[in-house]
Amino acid sequence: MLTICRDLAALRATTTKWRAKNLKVGLVPTMGALHAGHLSLIEGLRPHVDHIIVSIFVNPTQFAAHEDLDHYPRTEAADCEKVETFGADLAFIPTIGDMYPNGFATNLDVQGAACGLEADQRPHFFHGVATIVTKLFMQTQADVAIFGEKDYQQLLVIRQLVRDLNIPITILSGAIIRESDGLAMSSRNVYLSPEQRQIAGRLNLILSDLANSLAPAHQAETEARQALLDAGFSRVDYATIRDADTLATPSPTTTARRALIAARLGDVRLLDNMRAN
Ligand code: AMP
Repeated sequence: MLTICRDLAALRATTTKWRAKNLKVGLVPTMGALHAGHLSLIEGLRPHVDHIIVSIFVNPTQFAAHEDLDHYPRTEAADCEKVETFGADLAFIPTIGDMYPNGFATNLDVQGAACGLEADQRPHFFHGVATIVTKLFMQTQADVAIFGEKDYQQLLVIRQLVRDLNIPITILSGAIIRESDGLAMSSRNVYLSPEQRQIAGRLNLILSDLANSLAPAHQAETEARQALLDAGFSRVDYATIRDADTLATPSPTTTARRALIAARLGDVRLLDNMRAN
């Protein structure tokens, strides 16, 4: 039976009981509009904990003024049903007032993995993510949290945050869940027109070519960029091979590499990434 908590007091009332019994608590932070990608994180977390909290909060501080905060899909009733079906114990759906009380004036400034790529397009983004995720860690006092590789840079930023601030939580990651044509599932895919949806399926193929290319990185990146434009993408924010641990440009000593793409179809921005040669 799913418990729904809409404020911090209700959340704490439940987690305090769990902690008193020495039970392990896991957290899946989300912005709702849940799909199979989110649900796979619940499954990935389950073997590691006794109780699972799924948080649903569309965090305003990670949206810029021109972004889609007001239109972001909100499907709370359906989300709660899915979360319950997948065996989570608690849905934490806080209000804006609980997350950002009047006079809120603290923001985490993250650097390192948070520099470049997404931050070049969305300079506010990782400060907002780091702040809200830290709040969720403190509020839930979870022992373990899980994040998707879909947002690869975000995953590295959160690992860095936890390491730098000595937050006592273990971070797990979940593989990217895709549609049958390879498009990474995303709450924002509902914005795609049927024609854009066709084009969107090409992203993963182009990413795969980039990741497996035997050409020098700069040449493979140029080819990927051109292939995206030829496929009908209106703009390419990046198509790049990076050090998988730091997101720096790979050096001869780099052992693991990651191919990452962000490209736009009209107003819809699509992200994808995979392990590279
Ligand atoms: P969001 O609701 O978009 O903030 O995402 C919440 C969590 O779900 C993040 O850790 C995402 O990386 C993860 N996620 C989103 N889409 C996918 C996907 N297709 N596969 C796996 N994880 C995902």
